[in-house]
Amino acid sequence: MSMTKLWYNLLAMDMKKLVRPNVYSLSAYEAKEMPCKVKLDANESPYGFDGVLKVLKSVKTNRYPDPHASTLKKLISKNLRVRSGMVLQGNGSDELIYYLVTAFGGPVLYPVPTFSMYGIISQALGEKRIEIPLDDEFDLDITKTLSVIRKEKPKLIFLSSPNNPTGNCFSAEKILKIIESTSSRSVVVVDEAYQPFSSDRGFVPMINDYENLVIMRTLSKIGLAGLRVGFLVAKEEIIYEVNKVRLPFNLNSFSQAIASQVIVMKDLLRKNIKSVVSERKRLFDGITKIEGIIPYPSEANFILFRVKSPERIYRELLDNGVLVRNMKGVVNGCLRVTVGTPEENRIFLDALNQASKKIGTEDRDENC
Ligand code: PMP
Repeated sequence: MSMTKLWYNLLAMDMKKLVRPNVYSLSAYEAKEMPCKVKLDANESPYGFDGVLKVLKSVKTNRYPDPHASTLKKLISKNLRVRSGMVLQGNGSDELIYYLVTAFGGPVLYPVPTFSMYGIISQALGEKRIEIPLDDEFDLDITKTLSVIRKEKPKLIFLSSPNNPTGNCFSAEKILKIIESTSSRSVVVVDEAYQPFSSDRGFVPMINDYENLVIMRTLSKIGLAGLRVGFLVAKEEIIYEVNKVRLPFNLNSFSQAIASQVIVMKDLLRKNIKSVVSERKRLFDGITKIEGIIPYPSEANFILFRVKSPERIYRELLDNGVLVRNMKGVVNGCLRVTVGTPEENRIFLDALNQASKKIGTEDRDENC
């Protein structure tokens, strides 16, 4: 078929009629690739593990990957001190959210603002979404949450702690209240993507105490975002059901091989995490010193900060080669910066200082 004919056919299709309404009205997750010198927009680790790539020589490209990711799962379960049947691998935790919503269905309840994929995936799969605003401290509004749970009986609850994009951990007491109050009626997923950077101990130690608790983790934030490796930890009964909707070879051989090498490099992982945590403090202190800019305390590898002119500051930073995330529409008036290397953070702080001064001067001139 000629290109013109193909275009004609595409244009003649009425997408609104063809696509399911819940998908038609959906906006795709936007992960913009912007050219920049210092990339601090996606909560990645500044430290990679390119040195282990030689392990790929042993990967057989003509063979399917291990469908059970046995080696990797064994290492993960050993690290977390859980039985290996309590772990399920995902192509990033994004994929595991898909699997959870596919397996359990909705209504799906989560606080807002939070990680956007809970909502996007629920809507894509045609499930009802229930969003409950966080309180003024970005913690769970427990009274409202419990009353909505009683009324709406959600099948799935997602709690990102530390929460993206606010950076704080939710009160562990409140999370436990939600887990206990729903018991066998809802599955509660505590998304611990940022747990390695947190001073809270997280929920893995409690995994055997609650039938309805699922913990979601990822290797993306500790240096392996390019591999797409996430995993669930839960009682075997839950893993057994979710595994039914998992695509057979969802984790490719390269990712399995590299992740299995890196996950045992505990000293290096610890050192990198320690650097991010101490740099987070330096960044926080640096942002605090800039007039008119307020950072929010963070237990993650990023900091949310409030500025007077978010659009202009965002543009100024980008003009100076520094890419951060503009949180417009999610937490209005805020930008989010990922903790980078000491040098990247220095460049960011200098650029933020300059941007703030420039915009302050322009505003004063305008008001004269
Ligand atoms: N959960 C949270 C809270 C996140 O912020 C992210 C990534 N931004 C994910 C899950 C997805 O991580 P992955 O790379 O494993 O898909």
